[in-house]
Amino acid sequence: MEIKKGIAVSPGVSIGKCLIIDSEDYRIPRRQIEPSQRMVEIQRVRNAFRDAIQELTELEAAQDDTGGGRIKDIFAVHLRFLRDRTLRRKIKEAVQAESISAEYAVSSVLREIASHFTNVKDTYISERAADIYDIERRVLKQLLGTKREDLGSLREEVIVVARELSPTQTAGFNKAFVKGIASDAGGRTSHAAIVARSLGIPAVVALEDLTEIVRGGDTVIIDGNRGLVIINPDDATVEQYEAYSAEFAALGHKLDSIREKPAVTRDGVKVMLLGNIEFPNEATAVLEKGGDGIGLYRTEFLYLNRPTEPTEEEHYRAYAQTVGVFKERPVVIRTVDLGADKYTQSKRFAPEPNPFLGLRSIRFCLQNLGMFKTQLRAILRASVLGQVKIMFPLVSNLQELMQAKMILHDVMEDLDEESIPYQRDLDVGIMVETPSAALTASSLARESDFFSIGTNDLTQYTLAVDRGNELVSTLYSSADPAVLRLIRTVMQDAYKAQIDLSVCGEMASEPEYVMLLLGLGVRTLSLSAPMIPEVKQVILSVTMEDCNILTRKVLGMNSERQISNYLRNAARKILPAAF
Ligand code: PEP
Ligand code: MG
Repeated sequence: MEIKKGIAVSPGVSIGKCLIIDSEDYRIPRRQIEPSQRMVEIQRVRNAFRDAIQELTELEAAQDDTGGGRIKDIFAVHLRFLRDRTLRRKIKEAVQAESISAEYAVSSVLREIASHFTNVKDTYISERAADIYDIERRVLKQLLGTKREDLGSLREEVIVVARELSPTQTAGFNKAFVKGIASDAGGRTSHAAIVARSLGIPAVVALEDLTEIVRGGDTVIIDGNRGLVIINPDDATVEQYEAYSAEFAALGHKLDSIREKPAVTRDGVKVMLLGNIEFPNEATAVLEKGGDGIGLYRTEFLYLNRPTEPTEEEHYRAYAQTVGVFKERPVVIRTVDLGADKYTQSKRFAPEPNPFLGLRSIRFCLQNLGMFKTQLRAILRASVLGQVKIMFPLVSNLQELMQAKMILHDVMEDLDEESIPYQRDLDVGIMVETPSAALTASSLARESDFFSIGTNDLTQYTLAVDRGNELVSTLYSSADPAVLRLIRTVMQDAYKAQIDLSVCGEMASEPEYVMLLLGLGVRTLSLSAPMIPEVKQVILSVTMEDCNILTRKVLGMNSERQISNYLRNAARKILPAAF
């Protein structure tokens, strides 16, 4: 049994067999075969090695001795490995003795060798582990060929373990079979983590070297509450976790009973709880968890996982479906936030050196007007179906906002000319998620009907800490005094300009921040559906006086650690079962 500590990003507990997917998405489940099939599998191992050797020999021959000398050396080492009879014998013996598939035998034997290398203190030797993984990939490619199994077509329950997951991959997981997620990379607000939370799949990220420790088929426990992954747990631990999991589920049921109650503090202050969604079919989950509408619809997910851009009709259908769920209640549609870690196929081939500081969000839209106008037309057409609001992401100066609004007006004129109806006076707001926007909030407020603070990006850009990089994850915290001061400034400017303000970053879904946000004056929170009941429970348990006292104390503190500890202790008193 081994326990790894990472960052808890999606609550819940699950126990299951792990399925490792590498960067090329190969999934290598432990597959038992009939004893009569063993010879067939052994022949497959032979063929795969033969073809991998041939492929590599051709690659080696194609390298010239000058620039490619180093590469030639690497290929030569790999070839020596592939030709090693002892290695092949070991794999064949595994198939023979355990009645397992060729893929699984190759993967487990090579990973075992790689883990021996990793554990050697000598850097030169430990780095050879990467070579073994490369060899593994090459042989698996021969074995799996074009028959690579699609994660979407899983038929058994698994815990997905990966070095890194993209938001698109995560969004494609079938919740009925993917029971837990663990990755070496990532942070609490990386988009793959956000999607896992929306799907309600327990997840832990930033585990650094988990993929080198576990093997496909190992039993693992994902503790998405405490950020733990337990590999090959002993019986007592499994028992303990089964009880804990049942307790957690019971808390969930208990909280579901407050679904119909409005989110009101003990002294009568009403808080609006809206949902964050990535796909229209999540809207019903928001409604079921007691959400009052949608505060953030991340529409860029319409673009991911497909080779072509969505048409105006596809946009319209997605928005109409969402608005149809909430009818007269608000639905805030954020225009596409592509770029950074969410890119279209064309951008994959033209990577930027610093994508989070590059052509992202509204900047991307302002340089791709055709695409932007298609989306705006669809949102405006859907606006007659309910209470639609438009929100521009990552606005970093007034000029960008004016440009975006001008384009919106152009689109309105086009619709007028075509006599297509839309809600002329719909609210148009912005996300405040850069320090520049926060510091100029007073002028942006004059041109906005509402603000929504995107604390995920605001934290990243204020602290200069990549939100998805596990190496700096301990430096990433929305409880940092710098971030809190910016939130307070934005809140004050919105109040002076008398425009609505909400918080839609992950901060709004963490129970420990609720009292602080209320004390800062926030009255609308937008969060992923599964977290709504817990946050509501905190609101129902406090008074505004409690919140104001806590906020005054926190604003007087000057260290992130002090603030985080203080907030956690306060929340623990209110909702002990969740911590
Ligand atoms: C944010 O940055 O806080 C936000 C809500 O937007 P996203 O997480 O999609 O970048
Ligand atoms: Mg953002």
